[in-house]
Amino acid sequence: MSTGTERRSTCRRTEDIYRKAIEDIRDYAIFMIGPDGLITNWNLGAQQMLGYTEEEVIGKDAAKFFIPEDRAKGVPEQEMATAATEGRAEDERWHIRRDGSHFWASGIMTPVRDETGKLIGFSKVMRDMTERNKLTQERDRFFALSMDMLTIVHLDGRLQRVNPAFQKVLGYSEEELLSRKIFELVHPDDRAKTMSGYVDLGRGKPVKHMENRLGCKDGTYRWVAWSYFPVPEDGLAFGVGRDVTELRRMHEVLRLRAEELENANRVKDEFLATMSHELRTPLTSILGWSRLLHSNQLSDKDKERAIQIIQRNAEAQSKLIEDLLDVSRIITGKLKIEFQPVSFAAITDTALSSLRPALDAKQLKLEASIDPAAGPISGDPARLQQIVTNLLSNAIKFTPNGGKIDVRLQRTDAHVRLDIKDTGVGISPEHLPHIFERFKQVDSSNVRAHGGLGLGLAIVDYLVRQQGGAVFAASGGPGTGSTFSVEFPLTSSEVIGDSRQAEGVPQRPLAVLERANSTIDASLQDVHILVVEDDPDTQELLKTVLRRHGANVTTVSCCSDALAEIASSKPDVIISDIGMAGENGYELIRKIRSMDPDTGGHIPAIALTAYAGATDRRRALLAGFQTHLAKPVEPDDLLAVILSLTFQQEA
Ligand code: ADP
Repeated sequence: MSTGTERRSTCRRTEDIYRKAIEDIRDYAIFMIGPDGLITNWNLGAQQMLGYTEEEVIGKDAAKFFIPEDRAKGVPEQEMATAATEGRAEDERWHIRRDGSHFWASGIMTPVRDETGKLIGFSKVMRDMTERNKLTQERDRFFALSMDMLTIVHLDGRLQRVNPAFQKVLGYSEEELLSRKIFELVHPDDRAKTMSGYVDLGRGKPVKHMENRLGCKDGTYRWVAWSYFPVPEDGLAFGVGRDVTELRRMHEVLRLRAEELENANRVKDEFLATMSHELRTPLTSILGWSRLLHSNQLSDKDKERAIQIIQRNAEAQSKLIEDLLDVSRIITGKLKIEFQPVSFAAITDTALSSLRPALDAKQLKLEASIDPAAGPISGDPARLQQIVTNLLSNAIKFTPNGGKIDVRLQRTDAHVRLDIKDTGVGISPEHLPHIFERFKQVDSSNVRAHGGLGLGLAIVDYLVRQQGGAVFAASGGPGTGSTFSVEFPLTSSEVIGDSRQAEGVPQRPLAVLERANSTIDASLQDVHILVVEDDPDTQELLKTVLRRHGANVTTVSCCSDALAEIASSKPDVIISDIGMAGENGYELIRKIRSMDPDTGGHIPAIALTAYAGATDRRRALLAGFQTHLAKPVEPDDLLAVILSLTFQQEA
């Protein structure tokens, strides 16, 4: 008996110690509740965690530790039901302290039964997980907010976790990605290197840098730069990837640009070599032959030859220098084009005539079909002539002796088109697309064979485009000859000037003035102006504009009427057209200037004409005009010139 009593008392003592131990545990809240959910026991840890003393809490409903949302959902009751039926209920959730503050805790509820197995209550153990939860949350936020692609991946390539950036770059949803192996997404050409990276990861070796292309949902590929850190014991790796598609594209652009610059530099070097060769060649002849001349040892025949050679080489060099200057003007934007209505047919004719000796020297057969009625275009006569001369000279240069050159100028729809076809060396298909590039010669052996700087066609191309036209080259390949074609739009009837006049088409007044109104508020009061112009519309327009400023305007349409008017009224200023039926403006001014000053020989005169080139200007000034204005003229310019001429007279 005594042993039984002793055992019982030992047992009770152990139970007491056990209870005391539980009651004193501080890191865990341990409490018991009855089957009705009311608290029956409360330890120190519970007091610390939840803030209630034993007295305050015993007999109270344990559901009050749950947040209202959970209480409303019946979580406390479910927990007890789960514990009762399954022997345990475990979860993590928010709880409320006595002071109303929330904390995150894990909880395990276990049923307590008596000897007969009857449920007499539950024990609940809680642990405050707020700190750990904060860390987890921070990590999750980091994962969610990262701009880089983050993934936890199995070493066999299966994606276990991907962050939103990963999904965004590729355009797939999380579900679509988690069902795949990363290798399926990798571009076939990058698959081997990606797999080999994963082999390294399996051996515990990090992959510090690997770039591969991943396929997006829209079918495109993005370049991603990866670093991977393996956790071989878990069969996982952590991957951080950055979309470098744009970066790579920029690198590629820079690389190509650098290549281009390198190439341009090389072409320039080659060009300088060619240029010095090209400039030296004629110089050698000029110097050599001039020394021979100087030595006085040449026969008369050789002397004549020497002079011809010197002249030819000096001309060739001058052409080279002109080309170089043109290119420099083009590069610096200083090449000026002065537009006026011109006949491209007449210009082509002139160019052909000037190259006749070169054609004859090579016994080249010329077949020319130039339609003089092809219509006027708007351009700079000198620059148009340069275009035709360049193309024709090339045809002559690259066609062997005895060959043939066809020149055809015709109207095609709203254009005038010039085709220059030769039976020369032709151009290979690979060179054809680059033929108009600066410094481009088809091959440097050409330099020796034919000379030239490779600038002519680049200048032609520029000049043609600046004048609203287009130039093309065609060739069936080496040995099959070449055809160069230039096309310019016909002028609209509004801007047709003297060239139409030359063709007997009446000139339209707006071609004479840039616009009908002037902005100068100047008075020509009492200035008597004689307008000599054979086109009635133009007469009318000039009269209107000048009268608006108070001028007294007389108009005549031929030279004899002009002379009669001068004799009778002695105007203050004369404005005269040049190209008129009968006697032209040059003849008129010469006659005026031969007159006595008292009878009008010194009246200032303005040539107003569509012949606008530098030579035309010189010619007008030499003939006796004070000023030369090109049609169409700005009314302001016209007024300013009249004012300055009348002012000079008064002074
Ligand atoms: P270059 O002054 O060297 O002739 P261009 O710019 O006028 O320079 O011409 C560039 C290159 O185009 C020439 O070197 C030549 O190879 C080719 N080319 C130009 N015109 C012809 C043509 N009519 N037939 C064959 N090749 C031509």
